[in-house]
Amino acid sequence: MAEAERMIEQRNVQMCVYCGVEAGTTRDHVPPKSIFPPGDRKDLVTVPACEKCNGGASSLDEEFKAMLNLKAGSEHPASRSLWDGSTLRGIKRNRRFLSTLRSRMLTAHLEFPNGEVTKNQRLINWGGESHDRTVERIARGLHFHDIGAQIGRLAIEEGCG
Ligand SMILES: [Zn+2]
Repeated sequence: MAEAERMIEQRNVQMCVYCGVEAGTTRDHVPPKSIFPPGDRKDLVTVPACEKCNGGASSLDEEFKAMLNLKAGSEHPASRSLWDGSTLRGIKRNRRFLSTLRSRMLTAHLEFPNGEVTKNQRLINWGGESHDRTVERIARGLHFHDIGAQIGRLAIEEGCG
C-alpha cells in the first residue's frame, strides 16, 4: 500500500474516544443506555470506543444507574420504573456490588436546617469511583459527539474500563 493510501486509511479510522490509543471498533452509548427507561432509549448518542473500554464499563454503568436510582428516589415514575425493572435485579445479580453496598450502609439520625429530625435513616456511603469514571466517560463522549475531537489525555493513566 502506498504511503498516501495508508495515511488516508489511518485518517478514516476513528480512534476510541476514551483511551485514544485503540481503534474505535464498537459504538458506546453516552450517557449509558442503561440509565434510561426501556421506552426512552431511542436516538441515543453513540461514540466510537475500543472493545476494552466499551466492555469494561458495564459494571460501572450498573453501579452508576443504581446510584442515580437511589438518589432520585422512588417518587419519580422513571426512577421507580428503572428500580423495579432492571436496577434491583442488577444489584441482586452482582454479588460484589451487593456486598459493597451492604458494607457501606449505615444508620444515622439526620437533623435538617428546618429543624426536622429523621431517626434511624438508612444511608449508603457511596464510593465515588463509579460516579467519577462514568461522568468522565460521559464528558469525553459528549465532547467528541459535539466537537468531533477527543478531550486531551489527562485522565488516561488508570484506563477507562
Ligand atoms: Zn479505548
